Formats: sequence, C-alpha cells, structure tokens
Amino acid sequence: MRIVNWGTFSAIAGYHVALFALLPFAFGGFNAATWIIYLVTFILSGLAITAGHHRLFAHKTYDAHPVYEWFWLFMSALAGQMSALSWSNDHRIHHSHVDTEKDPYNINRGFWYAHVWWLFVNPLIPIDERIVGDLLKNKRVMFQHKYYGWIFLAVNGAVFGIGCLFMSPLASFVGCVLLRIFTIHHCTWFINSLAHMWGSRTYSAEQTAADNAVLALLTFGEGYHNYHHTLANDYRNGIRWYHFDPTKWLIWTASKIGLASNLRWVNDIRIQQTLVNKDKQLLLERIRHEIDETALELREKLEELSKQFEAKAAELAKAYRELKVATEERRRILLLEIKRLRRELRVDWKNWVSLTELAEKRYALA
Ligand SMILES: [Zn+2]
Ligand SMILES: [Zn+2]
Repeated sequence: MRIVNWGTFSAIAGYHVALFALLPFAFGGFNAATWIIYLVTFILSGLAITAGHHRLFAHKTYDAHPVYEWFWLFMSALAGQMSALSWSNDHRIHHSHVDTEKDPYNINRGFWYAHVWWLFVNPLIPIDERIVGDLLKNKRVMFQHKYYGWIFLAVNGAVFGIGCLFMSPLASFVGCVLLRIFTIHHCTWFINSLAHMWGSRTYSAEQTAADNAVLALLTFGEGYHNYHHTLANDYRNGIRWYHFDPTKWLIWTASKIGLASNLRWVNDIRIQQTLVNKDKQLLLERIRHEIDETALELREKLEELSKQFEAKAAELAKAYRELKVATEERRRILLLEIKRLRRELRVDWKNWVSLTELAEKRYALA
C-alpha cells in the first residue's frame, strides 16, 4: 500500500524517530516533575479524546455546557488527533460501515492498517455535511477546527514551557511532549486495531468489535468496544459498576455539577432485549438446515420466549411512560405493575440464557 498522505506520515514517523533518538540523551534529565507532568497531560489528553471527541462530539451521548466544551476542545489538542470535527467525521463513517471497504480503519485489512497505516495510504477524508452537519453548526467546534494547528502548538508549547521550569529543555521536550503524544496515540489506536481483534463479542457477534477489560485500562474505559458498537448512543462503554470506565464516571460527575446534561443510556431491559433479538437471529441462522425434532422444538421455543420477552418489555416501557403523568392513586398501581413485570422479565431472561446455552451445547455452536 503506497503512502499518499505524506504530511501525516512525516509528522508521525518524524516524531517517533525523534523520540527514540533523543530518549537516551534526555532520560538522565528526567525527574519527578517529568513524570507528574507526563501523567497529568496523559490523563487530560486521554479524557479529552474519550469524553470530548468520542462520546460528546462524535456520538452526542450527552449535552454539555460551553465551558466544558471549550475545556476539552483545547485539552484534546494535547493528544494531536485532528480536530473534533475531522475525528467525528471519520469515526461516524467507521460506525456506519464497520468492517467493510468504506470503514476508514477496516480491521480486515490487518492490524497495522487499522492501527495507523490507514492514515498514510489514504488522502484525508473530506468533511461531509450529511455526516457532521450538527457539528458544522457548533461555533466552538468550528473554531477548534479552523485554528487546530495553532491550538496544538499553543497547548503543547505551554506544557513544554512549564516543563522547562523544572528540567532541561531536552528532558521537557522528550518526557512531557513527545513521550505523552506517543503513548496517547498508540493507546487510542489500539481501539481501532486490538479492540477489533481481541475480546468477547457479547452484544453483537456479527462484527469484529470486542469487549476487552485490559484495553479499557489503557483507554479510560473505551475497551468495551463490542457494547459500544452495538449501542453507540450510550454515554457509558463499560455498563457494569465494576467495569473500569473513568470516562463514564467523569461525565456522570460533570452532570452533577451542571457541566453536562441529558446523559443518554440504555437500560438493562433494553440491553437484554437487544441480546434476545441478536441471539435469536444468530441461532435461527445456525440451525437453518437442521431438520431433527430438537431443532424444530428449539425454533418454536426461541420464537415463543423472545415474543414473550418483547411483549413484557413493551408493557414495562408503557408503564414507565404512564408513570410520568399518573395521579397519586394510579401511581401506586403502576409501581406494583412495574415490580411484577421486572420480576417476570428476570425469570424470562434466565430462561432465555439457559435455552441459548442448551442450543449451543446441542449444536456445538461457537
Ligand atoms: Zn464510537
Ligand atoms: Zn470501532
């Protein structure tokens, strides 16, 4: 694959060479301040990409106060990953065409292609109004896009300057700037490469994105990539309380102090509903050619249980809607109804899981 984007290639290859050539000379000058500045800017630039570029601008999973938007738009320039507008443009294409020729970081073209090579062998993807029309109307996003190069130089220059107060300019340049850009680049790129190769595919088995707790550690929670590709309008990527997703905690905290609002998330019943539909499709497809008695029975059972789940979930959603406008007396009845439905859905879900496990054993499905 021939390099066509020489600008991006020289910038990225150039700083890698500079980093590794200078590191042996700079390392002796590193001190505690180097590591503190490195760590603080690593966290700021990482969260700027996940909470800002990714979950706010690319996916609109919540609304934010202008101050909050400005803050992340400036901090994200520390990461050197293009403007929020360009990043979101590419990323929305990735989501709607994942694993196909149109996917900018299509994993089927190999680890290195999805990791970084795609940036070199394709011309810059043009901004498409049909894809990022909403962002084109956001003045703050457009300001960052227009002056991205200057903002990049300003924030990184500032970090370099602060570093020089505590160490030699060489140590500051290598430890506080180059090393941080290098690590944050590769950690983000792992989501396009490793997170499409390694992990479990609980929510949608038909595509490559995978859930991976190790990657979540390196990427402020973005490792739960199978869930994310299945329900991308959720502000969380790790949906369980024990999932390491600091981006989700940050957004939640911001919502408590008025910096974020309208957090969008998918409730557990909706998630289970999605799983029931996906499992059903997958299993029916796999046993399509089986004609024995058990397959027949299984087909019937799959249809019956999924229909039942669907109906109760719809009833529950209706009860919740009604609850919002209900009188005091009606409220009491509705709350009891909700409790009953949730209890029944829990049982239905357990039955569904046993049925699919049985089917997997019987037909040795992967
Ligand atoms: Zn995404
Ligand atoms: Zn992806």
